[in-house]
Amino acid sequence: MSAQVTSDHRRTKTAESTQIVSATTDASMMQALLARRAAAKQDQGLAATLQLDDQLEDLGLAADDRLTCYSCQSWADHAHDPFTGRRVSFAPANDEIAVPA
Ligand SMILES: [Zn+2]
Repeated sequence: MSAQVTSDHRRTKTAESTQIVSATTDASMMQALLARRAAAKQDQGLAATLQLDDQLEDLGLAADDRLTCYSCQSWADHAHDPFTGRRVSFAPANDEIAVPA
């Protein structure tokens, strides 16, 4: 009898998810995610930062502390009118206020 053994072990890259699961407490998990978010903002861009913001919010991050906007899936450089939900840009610094012609 010939047992056929294949040695075709292919490992999928699961470093990221392993890292998350092995964090023992929410606090240390949050610290790790905050660090990853800072790096993501710098290197990986919006999509990665959005994902990390979502995970952080699930762990208790205040919505105000997000770097991205959940509603529009973009950078959090604006606010939403609480009544209409409309997007409102933050006022620019005093010396940058554009005067309409
Ligand atoms: Zn928004």
